[in-house]
Amino acid sequence: MIPDIKFIPSPNHSSRGDAEVRMVVLHYTADGGGAVSWFQNPAARASSHFVVTRNGGVVQMVDLERSAWHAGQPGRRAVDIKPNRSSVGIEIVNWGLLSRGRGGFRTYTGALVPPDEVVKSAGRYWQRYAEAQLAAVVDLVGWLCDSLGIPQRFIFEGQPGFMREGVLYDVVPYYLPAGRVGTNSRLASWRFKDNAGICGHCHIAAGKDDPGPHLPWERIVCREK
Ligand SMILES: [Zn+2]
Repeated sequence: MIPDIKFIPSPNHSSRGDAEVRMVVLHYTADGGGAVSWFQNPAARASSHFVVTRNGGVVQMVDLERSAWHAGQPGRRAVDIKPNRSSVGIEIVNWGLLSRGRGGFRTYTGALVPPDEVVKSAGRYWQRYAEAQLAAVVDLVGWLCDSLGIPQRFIFEGQPGFMREGVLYDVVPYYLPAGRVGTNSRLASWRFKDNAGICGHCHIAAGKDDPGPHLPWERIVCREK
C-alpha cells in the first residue's frame, strides 16, 4: 500500500554522491513529537527522510534522491560506511527509554508516561509504539523496499551469532555504553558494503539504543502480503 505522505521540507540534506540506496534505517525520535519542527531548523544539522507520528501520520522531510542526516558517522573504530549516503532514514516518534520515578515511569525530561504506554523489553522500560504508528511504519517500509529495490530483510540476517532459533529481535545488541563500539562494530564490519536491507540506528552506530528492543521487527522485515 502506498502511504499517505505529507511533505514538510527540511533544509538539512546533501548529495548522495555516487552511493546506491540499499538500506532503510529505523530510529525513534526520543521526543513527544517535536522532531518535525526541529528538522526544519538549519541549526539542528539533523534530518530524516520520514517522521512517523504517534497517530500514524507520515511526514516526508527530505527527497529520496538526497542524503538525510539521520545516522551520522560511525565512530573512529567502526568501519567507514557513510550510512546517510546509502540509506533512507525513518524517525518514529517515541520517547524510548523510560525510568521508574515518583508516580510512575518518566521520560528523560521528567514527563510522566501513561501506564498503558509503558512496555518492558530486554529488562528495561520503554514507551510503547502506537498501533496506528506501527501500521504506518510497516506500510512505509514495504513501499520503500518495493520502489527502491531494497530487500525487505534484516540487513545482518544470517550473521553467525546474531540469529537465535530464527528469532530476529533476540539478536539485536542494544546496550552499549556510550562511546564503546563493542558488538556494533562486529555488525558494521561484517561485509556491510555487500549487503542491503533494513536495520536500526543501534546496529550501525555505537552507543545508540534506537529504535529499541520494543520495536516488533518481525512485522517490519516479514511483511504479510
Ligand atoms: Zn537514531
